Amino acid sequence: MKFATKAIHAGVEPDPTTGAIMTPIYQTSTYVQESPGKHKGYEYSRTHNPTRTALQNALAALENGKHGICYASGLAATDAVLKLFRPGDEIIATNDIYGGTYRIMKKIYEPFGLVFHFVDMSDIKEIEKVISEKTKMIWVETPTNPLLKIIDIEAVTSVCKQKGILSVVDNTFASPYLQNPLDQGADIVMHSVTKYLGGHSDTVMGALIVNDDDLAKQLAFIQNASGAVPGPQDCFLVLRGIKTLHIRMQRHCENAKVVSLWLEDHPKVGKVYYPGLPSHEGHLLATRQMRGYGGIISFELKGDNYEEAVHVMESLEVFSLGESLGGVESLCTHPASMTHASIPKEEREKVGLKDTLIRLSVGIEDVEDLIEDLAQAIG
Ligand SMILES: *Cc1c(COP(=O)(O)O)cnc(C)c1O
Repeated sequence: MKFATKAIHAGVEPDPTTGAIMTPIYQTSTYVQESPGKHKGYEYSRTHNPTRTALQNALAALENGKHGICYASGLAATDAVLKLFRPGDEIIATNDIYGGTYRIMKKIYEPFGLVFHFVDMSDIKEIEKVISEKTKMIWVETPTNPLLKIIDIEAVTSVCKQKGILSVVDNTFASPYLQNPLDQGADIVMHSVTKYLGGHSDTVMGALIVNDDDLAKQLAFIQNASGAVPGPQDCFLVLRGIKTLHIRMQRHCENAKVVSLWLEDHPKVGKVYYPGLPSHEGHLLATRQMRGYGGIISFELKGDNYEEAVHVMESLEVFSLGESLGGVESLCTHPASMTHASIPKEEREKVGLKDTLIRLSVGIEDVEDLIEDLAQAIG
C-alpha cells in the first residue's frame, strides 16, 4: 500500500460493535471481565486501550515498521529508550539536537551512570573517534534541530550493525512522509508526535516504532511499567491528524522552498539553513536520503545583532512566536531562549547555534502571505 492510502486507512477498522468508521475514543480506565483473567484482550488502559492500539498500528504502518508504541510525550518516548540501558553503558548522540533530548540525557540519566558523547555526525569519522566496547546506542537526529544538518542514516546504522550497537533515529523533523529510517537500517524510530504527525498544535505525544519483536516487548513493558501513556482523546486527535499528513507535508515543503529562496535573496538576511537549498552543506545527502526537504528553516540576520533579531520576531504577525513546530500554522521560534535554553550557551555556540538564530516552522497558509509577513518584519 502506498503512503497516502496508509495514512488514511492503516490501523483503523470500523468499530466492531457499531460499524463507526472512525475509531471511537475509548474513554475508559478498565474493562469488565467475564471471569477472572477472561477478557477481550483489554484489562486496564495503562496497559492497552483500543484507541491507542489503532494509533500505534497506524504509526507502525507509516514507518514501515511492525510495532508502534505511544507515550505521553516525545520526551517520554526518549525516556523509555534510555531506560533500556544500565550504569556504565555509553551512548553517542548528535551534538545539534533537540534541547530536551540533551537535557534528559545530561540531567536525568548521566547522574544515574549512563555516559554520553555528543558529536557532529555530519562527519561519520567523529563517531568512530568515541566508539568503544561500552557503546550501546547511537542516537541520531536528522535533519538536526535547529541547524538542519543532515546525517547519513545508512552510514550510521551500518557502523551500528557491525558493532552490535542499537541505532535510534529521531524522525520528528522529517516525518514518515519524507523518510523512513527503519528502511535505512535503524532499530528504533522516535517521534515527537506533537509536531507533524499530530499536525494541529493540539496534542503532546511521542512514539517509538520498531521491527524487532523482543525490542517491542521491552519498550511496551516500559510503557506499562513506567506509565507515561497518552490518553484516548489525544490518540483520537492524532489518528485524525495523520489522515492528512501527506498533503500537509507536500504544502509545508512547497512553502518552505519558496520562503527559503526568498530569505536567501534578502539583502538583510545572512545565513539561511534549509536542506532544500543547493547552498546547504547537506543538500546532496538530503536529496538522496529524503523525499523532500521539510518545513523548517533557520536563518540569521546580517550583522548578528541581537536586538534586530528580537525586533523581527516581535514584528511577525502571521508567524506566531512560540515553541514547537509542525502544525498547520506558521511558527517562529528563538531556539536560544526557547527550545534550546536547556543547553548551556558555550555548548550552543560550539555547535554554531547563535543567540541571533531564528527558526521558522513554515505552515500551510498561502505562501504570499508568509512572504509579505517576513518582508514587513525584516524591513
Ligand atoms: C519537540 C521535539 C522533541 C520532544 O517532544 P515532546 O513531544 O515535546 O516531548 C524531541 N525531538 C524533536 C526533534 C522535537 O522537535
